[in-house]
Amino acid sequence: MGDDSVGFSKRIPALFLGHGSPMHAIDPGPVTAIWQQLGQRMPALSAVLVISAHWTLDHLALTAMDRPRTIHDFGGFPRALYQVQYPCPGSPELAQQLITRWAPFLEVRADNQWGLDHGAWSLLRYLFPNADVPVLQLSLDMTQPPRFHFELGRHLAALREAGILILGSGNVVHNLAAVRWQEEAPVYPWALEFDQWVRERIVSHQWEALLDWEYWPESGHHSVPTPEHFLPLLTVLGTYQPDESLTFPVSGMELGSISMTGVALGT
Ligand code: ZN
Repeated sequence: MGDDSVGFSKRIPALFLGHGSPMHAIDPGPVTAIWQQLGQRMPALSAVLVISAHWTLDHLALTAMDRPRTIHDFGGFPRALYQVQYPCPGSPELAQQLITRWAPFLEVRADNQWGLDHGAWSLLRYLFPNADVPVLQLSLDMTQPPRFHFELGRHLAALREAGILILGSGNVVHNLAAVRWQEEAPVYPWALEFDQWVRERIVSHQWEALLDWEYWPESGHHSVPTPEHFLPLLTVLGTYQPDESLTFPVSGMELGSISMTGVALGT
């Protein structure tokens, strides 16, 4: 971003966080405490770019409003969850700048309708409780294969040199049909197996294995019955730089079939 990077000499980390149940937003616990610490340790930011599992389109769109609204995109949860607001600014200027910059190789439309879905704000609320950093959300283009979402990360990597946090929000394992709605529910063996399989591929930088879904173990098909919660992970991994650290700040499962695994690059 050229001159825009003045004052941001340090590369900003990139994060993928498992967001799990929306209830985390009003029910702090061990996982949200880690999210909070990640935010506290973050260098000064010019903006956050969120890719969430919950904004699925047939094209790429980038939020471009002054004040993104807090979207309560779920049903059947307690009233308090619908009252949560995350009143951060947006940045129409930055959005337009990025859309123009990407135009030669990536068509991205400016969006004035969306805002921040719960995949975004349930994390941001802990990462940046003051809601003072501008946030842009980038949609998932569901017409594109996994490889596209990884390559998208390659394009986004440069933003990390310009004070922008790339934040992916989804889950490595996410099977809603199999969810066990009780406390301390036993975790499915296939969920544990696939979460571990993905971690091993990440640690050893075997990105190709994560992109070729037809070669996944059987556990992968149970763990990722639909792609949207997995794809933000690929975009974050696409921003990886060979000289930086790669860690898993969050581990564990909830509701039997949701992995809370988080991945941090460059922290
Ligand atoms: Zn979700």
